[in-house]
Amino acid sequence: MKYVYLFGNGAADGTAKMKNTLGGKGANLAEMNHLGIPVPPGFTITTEVCSYYYDNDKKLPDSLDSQLKDALLQTENIMGSKFGDANDPLLVSIRSGARQSMPGMMETVLNVGLTSKTIPGLIEKTGNDRFVYDAYRRLIMMYADVVMEKAAGLEPESGVGIRHKLESLIEDHKSKNQYVNDTDLSGEDWKELSETFKDEIRSTLGAEFPDDPMEQLLGAITAVFQSWSGERAINYRKIENIPDEWGTAVNVQTMVFGNMGESSATGVAFTRNPATGEDKFFGEWLVNAQGEDVVAGLRTPNPLNEETKTEGTKDLPSLESSMPDIYSELKEIRGRLEKHYNDMQDIEFTIQEGKLWMLQTRVGKRNGSAATKMAVDMKKEGMIDKKTALLRVKPEQLDELLHPMLDSESEKGAPLLGKGLPAGPGGASGRVVFTADDAEQWHKNGEKVILIREETSPEDVHGMHAAEAILTAKGGMTSHAALVARGWGKCCIVGCSELQIDVNKKEVVIGESTISEGDWITMNGTEGKIYSGAVELIDADPDTHPEYKELMVWADEVRQLKIRTNAESPNDAKQAIKFGAEGIGLCRTEHMFFDEARILAIRKMIFADNEKDRRSAVMELLPYQKEDFMGILKAMEGMPVTIRLLDPPLHEFMSLSEDQEKSLADNLNIDVSTVKSRVSALHELNPMLGHRGCRLGIAYPEITEMQARAILEASAELTKSGVSVLPEIMIPLVGTVTEYVDQEKVIRKVARDVMKEYELELKFMVGTMIELPRACLTADEIAKHAEFFSFGTNDLTQTTFGFSRDDIGSFLPDYLDRSILPEDPFQSLDVNGVGKLVSMAVKLGRDVNEKIKIGICGEHGGDPASIHFCKENGLDYVSCSPFRVPIARLSAAQAEL
Ligand code: PEP
Ligand code: MG
Repeated sequence: MKYVYLFGNGAADGTAKMKNTLGGKGANLAEMNHLGIPVPPGFTITTEVCSYYYDNDKKLPDSLDSQLKDALLQTENIMGSKFGDANDPLLVSIRSGARQSMPGMMETVLNVGLTSKTIPGLIEKTGNDRFVYDAYRRLIMMYADVVMEKAAGLEPESGVGIRHKLESLIEDHKSKNQYVNDTDLSGEDWKELSETFKDEIRSTLGAEFPDDPMEQLLGAITAVFQSWSGERAINYRKIENIPDEWGTAVNVQTMVFGNMGESSATGVAFTRNPATGEDKFFGEWLVNAQGEDVVAGLRTPNPLNEETKTEGTKDLPSLESSMPDIYSELKEIRGRLEKHYNDMQDIEFTIQEGKLWMLQTRVGKRNGSAATKMAVDMKKEGMIDKKTALLRVKPEQLDELLHPMLDSESEKGAPLLGKGLPAGPGGASGRVVFTADDAEQWHKNGEKVILIREETSPEDVHGMHAAEAILTAKGGMTSHAALVARGWGKCCIVGCSELQIDVNKKEVVIGESTISEGDWITMNGTEGKIYSGAVELIDADPDTHPEYKELMVWADEVRQLKIRTNAESPNDAKQAIKFGAEGIGLCRTEHMFFDEARILAIRKMIFADNEKDRRSAVMELLPYQKEDFMGILKAMEGMPVTIRLLDPPLHEFMSLSEDQEKSLADNLNIDVSTVKSRVSALHELNPMLGHRGCRLGIAYPEITEMQARAILEASAELTKSGVSVLPEIMIPLVGTVTEYVDQEKVIRKVARDVMKEYELELKFMVGTMIELPRACLTADEIAKHAEFFSFGTNDLTQTTFGFSRDDIGSFLPDYLDRSILPEDPFQSLDVNGVGKLVSMAVKLGRDVNEKIKIGICGEHGGDPASIHFCKENGLDYVSCSPFRVPIARLSAAQAEL
């Protein structure tokens, strides 16, 4: 079995296509060699070894050892130096690399191969003892942290691990010697500290820092595999839905040094701007630094070039002006990589004494706005076709274009606390918390929170996910926090150096102000501004995004599914039309009854003990309902509008306060005790399975009659005034064909009467919700009568699983944690169970009624995976909330591709 794949010197065993085996990083390192791009040579240990490691009690396969030694030998041959050699030692880095990038979630060890034997040789070779001892102390710190503590499972509960202790030793040394910066330390200082480090490791971890290069190498490789099951990697995988079985590859690569003096540097760049999508080479770099210095956000980095300088970075030196030759070589590589991958790349580079090396290229994470712009731009530039462009944007990412921004008027008057780097655009308000755990906990309690952190540690990933927005004191635009936040489309500001955070006191000082835990702040992530208090947010207007509009046009050309919306007011309807809705798939009428005047009429109806009183109570509602329907039908002129007859359990109308009981009693001329006894007689143990849906219309046909009349009279009047209308009257919660037929008869009779009264023919349909398993099982019987089906997958999920849709919260988290369910079935359709009922109902229905129109109006109508299912099962449309309409349009297009 081949476990090790070599790359270097313009050749490689692997290719970009081998991500599953080599991980993303390894596959692309191989590919860059094929492209003739300078990459430090090395080799990739496959993800299969990771699986082996976990399947075999954390042992590595036997044959790995000889393959490793062989690969090392070949790397040595390319470099002309030897691992562990006293005169000319080769040093290597050990990095993780999963199939899908998990930025900062696993471990890295650099400078492996430095030992008491190799140190003198490297000093001799470089003539730079400071550089060598600095590299050595970095190795000791990383190795102790990653291999000797984390991988060995020795991390202390307090969270103050060995790394922290070693860092304090540096601080002690600095204050003892009155040094200010790390750069003030000499080779001798670092040498002395390295020895102190080793003593500390011995006493804290009870083990010796290894002085053998092979032991270092194997320790580091094993630790990277081990970090696949570290807490933050597991958290990230859960959020990103990355399967545990994938495993990570390990890349062992010749070290190149960005910290060998003023002609050395390191940087991170994106071939286009990942926050806006602009076609501008965008990145950050630091002179005389190691790669981790840029991403860890400990020093605020410089801008890559002149054109992307901002207000905050205008006085910093760009790579373009500082090292023009290297910059133009890098720019040329940028072009070559984009052309080859036909996508925006996220690259890492190091300059060692004037020579440029590429350390990584991968498809760059981007937010929704940038993804949309790049997809459309790249299609126009001829890099990709329309299909690829449509597939480049994740439907959920469009959410960000529809996300709130700060209201500019309110922003003008808001007290500005400070500024930082605009790492994730959009606006957010929330209450301040200082730890990721608090962010998660507060969020669970229903609070909107903003997570403030000193640095951008990937260990905070769960808290970042829970927060509305993230604010950090340190770090640049390519720091972990920025990358992760942008990937999620979250508002994020980094590098706000004015922040003085005191985590213990749970407060932060910004300029003159002190903000404590729980205080409200607001962030403008597009401009990097922080305000105190909650500033008003306004909805985004996607109409101002030309590429979004274009992409939507392309989506509409491709998709076959129609997209409707669930709306119950003319305003919702208008919003949805703006987002591209082609009709209303569900107009719930119950909310129209909660107005004081109306609910009294309903209550009177429920209390009436004869048909005449009941009818007169219900008919009080007719003018109101007619007005409701006029508004909606008019807003949706010419488009189909599905109006559902009254559905909720009766008790929703009957929870009365003392005052309401009294006023009802007065109104009905009965006494309060009669009201009370009637209310208690109406009590149901399981109202969601009780007197609701068509069971209401069957018990009280006057309701159906009144609602049908309101719909049809509104339609008749609009038709007369020249507005074209397409009403579809929908009967809820049907379980037997007889229920359907009973209600349909009432509606058709009203229709005949109305058409006669208004002397016109109306085009309308009558159909039903399919939201009970029995309706699915007998869909053929129902379809002989119904003109349309609309799957109410909320109730269908509830009744198929026997899960209460209102109470699932008490056990769902356990179900998800323990993988008893892959996801919340109320959000994404349970294809194997509920989906089977849907497929069956479609088939049974169409077999007897070829022309029957079929849609879905449960929450699943706006879920991309469920939309794919709807397409595959031949539905005519999906219907979702107005803000999900764009997502549904794109998902429906992707379902065709
Ligand atoms: C459904 O059950 O899926 C549905 C759309 O109806 P409601 O959510 O109003 O019960
Ligand atoms: Mg329902």
